[in-house]
Amino acid sequence: MGLLDKTNPWATRESVIRQAILWGAIAAGVYVATCLWQPALRPYWAALLLAATAFGAGIGALMEWQLDDGPDKPNEEDWREALDAAGPGIDLDEDRTAWDQAWRAMPHRRLESSPGIEVGREFIDHFGDLMSVTISLDPPENSERAWRESESCPVCGEPTAGSERLPASLHPNFASGLSYGIGVWVHRTCFENCRDTSEPAPIPW
Ligand SMILES: [Zn+2]
Repeated sequence: MGLLDKTNPWATRESVIRQAILWGAIAAGVYVATCLWQPALRPYWAALLLAATAFGAGIGALMEWQLDDGPDKPNEEDWREALDAAGPGIDLDEDRTAWDQAWRAMPHRRLESSPGIEVGREFIDHFGDLMSVTISLDPPENSERAWRESESCPVCGEPTAGSERLPASLHPNFASGLSYGIGVWVHRTCFENCRDTSEPAPIPW
C-alpha cells in the first residue's frame, strides 16, 4: 500500500475538498490560538498561517482519501433524489399540507368533566395543573397510524371494545401551555355529547 493510495472507497473529489477545507480551517484556528500564546511567532504569522492551513488541509484530504469511514451523511438533495426514485406521489411538502388539513378539519370537542382515562399524572407534576381536555376525531385515512394504548373511553371511562366507537385523539392542556395528543377510542355517543370547541383540531406531530 503506497502512502497516497486511495483506500477509502467512499472518497470523492468533493468529499476530499470538503475535508481539506475543514481541516485547513481547524489548523488555522489552532495556529492563531498558538500565536496568541507565543508572541515570538508573531512576526512570521502570515507565512506560518499559510503553512499551517496548507498542512491541515493536506492532512484532512489524506484522511478522507484513505480512512474508510462510510459514506457521508446524505444531504437534502440526496434525500429528494431517493424520494423521487421511490416513486411518484411522494412529495414531503404536499403530503404534509394534506395531512395538516385532514387533521384540522376533524370535529374537535371539549370534555365537560375530568377524563375517564389516565392522561399522565407524571406530567401534571412538571407542567402544572390540567386546565382542560379536548378530543378530536382522527381522519379515517390516518387513523391506522396512531397508537392507542387504552381501549377505555376517555369520556365515560367504560371499555369501548365491542361497542360503536371512533378513533380519536385526546388533548390534555396543562397550565404551562404544554399539550399533547393521546390516541384513544371513544364511544360515538360520548363524543357526540361533548360540546364543540369551535377551534380547529390540533395536528399531531
Ligand atoms: Zn364513553
